[in-house]
Amino acid sequence: MLNAKTGKKDKQFVVQLAGQVDDQADIEKAIGTLPAPPYEMHVNCGQITRINSIGVKNWIKYFQKIQGLRVPIFFYDCAPPIVQQMNLVFNFSAGGKVVSMQVPFSCEAEEHNFTLTFTVPDLRKINFNIPGQKCPKCGSASEFDDIPKIYFKFLMNPQV
Ligand SMILES: [Zn+2]
Repeated sequence: MLNAKTGKKDKQFVVQLAGQVDDQADIEKAIGTLPAPPYEMHVNCGQITRINSIGVKNWIKYFQKIQGLRVPIFFYDCAPPIVQQMNLVFNFSAGGKVVSMQVPFSCEAEEHNFTLTFTVPDLRKINFNIPGQKCPKCGSASEFDDIPKIYFKFLMNPQV
């Protein structure tokens, strides 16, 4: 099930997506009527839990249509399933700009695994060397739970 909350703030059409982007998800219906131009679309992807191959196809189709309307698209707080697709599928962001994304961390206690949101300029500033964090649940040292070359591939090699 995919849910969308939308709102308008000045020229920004703000969309908060939550849930699964799969065969059951109708992105266009969930987001609903678009405001009258000109506007920018600001999409928060922080609560997307899963996306499958049909979801990917529909996602690209939807956002390419928005891009075709010459609406600038910005993606925020991209959850790991969305980051994965950005790495795998060349035109997944459909010309949109990724502003921030979630970075996964693992604690010794596996059930404490958590994510933190980093902005893309901050990630570039630290050259994708993600500093260790304290687990918010138990305070142990927690490490970035992926490989920079893989998790940040779409940022490191934008053409690939
Ligand atoms: Zn912990």
